[in-house]
Amino acid sequence: MSMAARIVASGGPVSLLSRFHGALVAAVLGDCVGGEFEGAQDVPLERVLQHLSGLEDDTRGDGILQYSDDTAMMRCVAQSLLTRMGFDEQDMARSFAKEYSLAPGRGYGAGVIQVLRKLASPQLSDVFQPARAQFGGRGSFGNGGAMRAAPFALAFRNAADVKKYARFGAMLTHSCSLGYNGAVLQALAVYLSLQGELSLPQKFINRLICEMEEVEKDETARSDAKVLNLDEFPFCARLHRVKELMEQNSVSIEEVISELGNGIAALESVPTAIFCVLHCLEPREGLPEHYGGLERTIAYSLALGGDTDTIACMAGAIAGAHYGISAIPQSWLISCEGAEEAKHLAERLYKLHIMQTDEVRVTTSSSGQPQDSHPKNTD
Ligand SMILES: [Mg+2]
Repeated sequence: MSMAARIVASGGPVSLLSRFHGALVAAVLGDCVGGEFEGAQDVPLERVLQHLSGLEDDTRGDGILQYSDDTAMMRCVAQSLLTRMGFDEQDMARSFAKEYSLAPGRGYGAGVIQVLRKLASPQLSDVFQPARAQFGGRGSFGNGGAMRAAPFALAFRNAADVKKYARFGAMLTHSCSLGYNGAVLQALAVYLSLQGELSLPQKFINRLICEMEEVEKDETARSDAKVLNLDEFPFCARLHRVKELMEQNSVSIEEVISELGNGIAALESVPTAIFCVLHCLEPREGLPEHYGGLERTIAYSLALGGDTDTIACMAGAIAGAHYGISAIPQSWLISCEGAEEAKHLAERLYKLHIMQTDEVRVTTSSSGQPQDSHPKNTD
């Protein structure tokens, strides 16, 4: 189908507001539907399709699928960006800690729980310190920073700010470069998708590679990659693999898992989520013909198994920003706890985004610098 035909078939060009709504609501959707398969290593596609078609049964109650830590923390990010009208690490850190203390049973990992407990202490002045102390001072490289990164792409107007604040936001819990750079990549993918860049998939992936080459040039990133025995420029290396898989005629699930991963490390899940979106831009064998691209993306993400809620949440945010909210089936949407609230937060972030001038306030405390080597985030 030509691009023009596709636009007509989908009922016209997607408005920016619809993209904003789509990004946050589809992230919640991915988290909610992905919980069913979290940690499973072998997920037959029929089971995924059964699970999803079960949502069409309207005798089930609304909000039947509960969200997990992914959505809980993403809401904190969005709310903090909104109330502070920009990034305020103190406020965001307290917000994470408060959310955890109010609802600790959302499936947080053991490592992040330690950090969240320390962030709750009123005596703590450097809110980046607890994350830095994790894992013998190496910090976490999990995908917890990336899973909640989407609101940064909505709140800030230029790519440099999206990258900068997605990184600081992630460093509150994930201080290893392999963790926070995953958040930078996820936020960038959502940011480009909001701008309609997924209509040219090759350009989209090339732009991500280009941006991440800049990000991974950083000395800390280079030494972390070395210490962890990874490729130089590890996220770029994965994105090149995404590109190779895009060029193949057919790709098996096994190949995607072995080339890109489906684990809880940011490196093994953020590029995977990006691949899911790119792969599902076209109809794919095994997925129902009546599915649109967003439905395909969600179903495909779940079929990979592993950290399904987070991979589907991240793929959902990128896909939702591309297709807009009208691409989400109503029955899926009402099944998810928190979908309505996500729509509301997206609406408020949209208002912040369009009224934004250069003076959107970014507050920071003098004691709260993430690391000496980082520039002061006072602009
Ligand atoms: Mg989760």
